[in-house]
Amino acid sequence: MEKTAGPFQLPPLPWAENALEPVISAKTISFHHGKHHAAYVKKTNELVAGTRYESMPLDRIVAETAGHPDSLKLFNQAAQAWNHAFFWNCLRPGGGKPSGEIARRIEAELGGPDKFRESFVKAAVECFGSGWAWLAERGGKLEILAMPNAGTPIALGATPLMTIDVWEHAYYLDYQNERPKFVQAVFDKLLNWDFAADQLQKSQSRKAA
Ligand code: FE
Repeated sequence: MEKTAGPFQLPPLPWAENALEPVISAKTISFHHGKHHAAYVKKTNELVAGTRYESMPLDRIVAETAGHPDSLKLFNQAAQAWNHAFFWNCLRPGGGKPSGEIARRIEAELGGPDKFRESFVKAAVECFGSGWAWLAERGGKLEILAMPNAGTPIALGATPLMTIDVWEHAYYLDYQNERPKFVQAVFDKLLNWDFAADQLQKSQSRKAA
């Protein structure tokens, strides 16, 4: 992979480009990671050059620029760079189901697996325009969030646990306008609940520390 000038690099995918077929094609992943995600990383590098953000971790840049109109350009690029790296880790060939603590929390706080699926898919499908559907933990509670554009739970001080990218670039080559089909297929066949469980556990150990 081509090295980028600046502090941030495009992280490699956690699986081969064709590993998510037939749910997401190698062609989609190739454009989504190699062009879209790469461009967010490159533009973040350009925008932080010579600023106090240059030596900050990406998630801190996102948290610090969120909600400030004068740093919106950097927020958009940095949040998109961060969100995409997170998104790739939310996917894996074969997917899976929540288990353990995160499954118990979904049962207790979000009405159980079927209700959770219905609410998450609805949030993703109804997110108007470009955006992201998230499962996050905020103030000790699980929450489903539909966030437009580069929206990310980090901007709210919440902990991201799971996400689906619903920008058209995520599905148009494979599903054209049929976002519901894409979201349902990803939810049922690709979500990596071990990764989400790790995020929840890390957030709990941070709070305990
Ligand atoms: Fe995307």
